[in-house]
Amino acid sequence: MEKLIQQNLYHIIQEFSKFGSRWLESEGEENTRQIILDVFENLTMDNVYCEWFQCHNYIPKEYYLRVLSPSRYEIRCEPLEYSKYSEVEGELVFLGEFKEEDVNTISKLETNLEGKICLIVSDTPAFFISELADKGAVGVIVATEAPDNLIRRLAAKSYPPNFDDPTRWKAEIPGVSISKQDLYRLLSLMSSGKVTVKIGHFWESKISRTCNIVGVVEGCVDESIVVGAHYDSQMKTVGVWDNLTGLSTLLELARVFSKVKNRKRMIFIAFAAEEIGLWGSAFFVKKNRRELREECNAMFCLDAISSAYPTERSLWVEGFLKDFIIESVERYGSKIDNIRELNVSYSDYYPFVLENISAAMIWEYPPINPYYHTEKDLLRYISLDKLYFMGELYRKIVEDLDRRNSSIIRR
Ligand SMILES: [Zn+2]
Repeated sequence: MEKLIQQNLYHIIQEFSKFGSRWLESEGEENTRQIILDVFENLTMDNVYCEWFQCHNYIPKEYYLRVLSPSRYEIRCEPLEYSKYSEVEGELVFLGEFKEEDVNTISKLETNLEGKICLIVSDTPAFFISELADKGAVGVIVATEAPDNLIRRLAAKSYPPNFDDPTRWKAEIPGVSISKQDLYRLLSLMSSGKVTVKIGHFWESKISRTCNIVGVVEGCVDESIVVGAHYDSQMKTVGVWDNLTGLSTLLELARVFSKVKNRKRMIFIAFAAEEIGLWGSAFFVKKNRRELREECNAMFCLDAISSAYPTERSLWVEGFLKDFIIESVERYGSKIDNIRELNVSYSDYYPFVLENISAAMIWEYPPINPYYHTEKDLLRYISLDKLYFMGELYRKIVEDLDRRNSSIIRR
């Protein structure tokens, strides 16, 4: 079988980078979608189609964070997407990373969150916001470890999406995110006593249409392998690591697998709207549940795969794929540094896992890429050599799995 071509990966990323952000209904999203469709249509595939669905779009209008006492000043912030449309004020309480030990410390001190604005450090605040609201908090400020005074773009809501009534998909309290520098400034202010702040968060809610782009290469047995990568990005970021690295790999894999006769059906999917709660992959699984359950051996999730920063190589995996991938990675001259379960909805594998389909994602973590979800997630901060290595690794893994007899595959 033909190998991936490093220059192709580079060229795809370079072209898509020119479009800027690929947020819902942006020009970048539309242009990217059109090119993916053209690429698939120009390959020898048996079926290429767009799978359209409606989802909730978020357009920020006005947002601010003001310290009211003991001094008055404004803090630079970004909106926490899909958090509640409102203005609130209250006393600030710091909950650390909102891990169990942070929550325990707070509850031992009998800190009441009723009417408070919670300050947390998190890259995934969507997992905590409902709990904060349940405890009576009226607002949330999220800080991250992003360097260079950057503020990550984050959503306040996560999986599952709401296809029946998209505009109801939003968080219970308003929020903003701030830089690490401003986190320290707030903490230093809090060390001198009570701090009260005001959060304003106003946005336009809109139903938008978007689509997954699906390319199918038929095999000769009733089994399938899904390879997916999301093509959307966070707001105001080009999202090269997240996820032009995965998308370029998807297109290259589709190219080489469409040139050969595979045993199993190969389904290549560019998922839409992953960043706002896995809408695309959730929709695909909802539409194709029965076929997937009956035929799908495995889902490979390509998401953010080749940062230039040193990180561990972690394998997020479910089912028989665990040993299969560890063996393959070692055979091809690398190793997995740590293994995680797929019990959290971080990426597009999740809707598949909920249907008992084996899935895997080789991710770069820990630590998180410093430029994750910022405007500095650019081509110059990814490693093309690593990207090529990862692409080839996935090609060999998919090829090995295609040859495997299904009796070896345990769900
Ligand atoms: Zn991603």
